[in-house]
Amino acid sequence: MLVVMQAQATEEQIRAVCQKIEKLGYRPHSMPGAQRTAIGITGNKGEVEQGTLEEMPGVQEVIKVSKPYKLVSRDVKQENTIIRFPGTAATIGGPGLAIVAGPCGIETREQAFAVAERVHRAGAQFFRGGAYKPRTSPYSFQGLGEEGLRIMAEIRQQFGLKIITEAVDYESLDLVDEYADVIQIGARNMQNFSLLKRAGRAKKPVLLKRGMSATLEEFLMAAEYILSEGNYNVALCERGVRTFADHTRNTLDLSVVPAVQRLSHLPILVDPSHGTGKRNKVTPLSRAAVAVGADGLMVEVHHKPDEALSDGPQSLYPDQFDDLMTQIRQIAAVVGRTVPPPVWIESPAVATPVSATIISKAVAESQTIETVEAPGVEAPGSEG
Ligand code: PEP
Ligand code: MN
Repeated sequence: MLVVMQAQATEEQIRAVCQKIEKLGYRPHSMPGAQRTAIGITGNKGEVEQGTLEEMPGVQEVIKVSKPYKLVSRDVKQENTIIRFPGTAATIGGPGLAIVAGPCGIETREQAFAVAERVHRAGAQFFRGGAYKPRTSPYSFQGLGEEGLRIMAEIRQQFGLKIITEAVDYESLDLVDEYADVIQIGARNMQNFSLLKRAGRAKKPVLLKRGMSATLEEFLMAAEYILSEGNYNVALCERGVRTFADHTRNTLDLSVVPAVQRLSHLPILVDPSHGTGKRNKVTPLSRAAVAVGADGLMVEVHHKPDEALSDGPQSLYPDQFDDLMTQIRQIAAVVGRTVPPPVWIESPAVATPVSATIISKAVAESQTIETVEAPGVEAPGSEG
């Protein structure tokens, strides 16, 4: 159920409606919009008795929300959600794309700082890195835990990067909530409902990754869990789903981006690193993600990918990340978005930009790679 307030409704009238909803034993979620405020109602088992609310001053109408997800839906809030970080220009969901980059896992202080310096210089505003790694094998690197979080806090201090890192359970969520700027919930936990509810009570925004076999509705319902607990700063992230295709680690479902944007006001990022599992496909799919309208990218970068303790084969070298940023700046302009510029480094002689690769060269190179690797695709002119 949704209470739509009149455009000229006062704060007091909105408050009175929220109080009434609480008195009826439900939970009000006030969603201010550009035109008017809507108040979502959750916690009701059946239908809310409409009459009492409809008669209250300032109320325009009370409507039934037929979709299973309510608070994430555009029915409740038409305008896009923009997640802001006070004191900085960084946003998730604004006209500027949110660029998240960093290693899969925080391995050492040296490694984390080496990567952070490069992604900062390339223009990323968010630094990613796992302190708690959900690994398929219990014998694989599990992350540094709180030590990893401390290293990331130092990185924020040094470079002004916002920190995004994953919480895998209640205990780590408490710590991540304390240290990070954004709490990541990973694909394997997308339907860990108690963790989602806990994230809904956290202070920090949440980045929710799509489960590897989740439908669009399941994805939105998982986000609904977080909003229903009162945390409305949620961003989604497409990271590839399991299909029969075996030329990539997962199949990056870029079609989910406009599908989400049609139904929901929440921002959606794309992670082409886990989405493809292959370094040579990360930049082409990043270009495609920006072109399709994603609100940002999450990309794994490592200064020595061959030595990485996790996900080395899908991690870009810092120079490749520079090129990626150069390329997506041009594509972003076409779709009316912006990408932060590189951070110029003042040298005594001249100030040099970090990257200056020409897009056509990079496009040509990645196309060559794609043609060679794509199975079942015949080269033009081939026979049989
Ligand atoms: C990650 O981003 O580090 C990660 C583990 O991703 P996912 O949950 O999408 O597998
Ligand atoms: Mn990874």
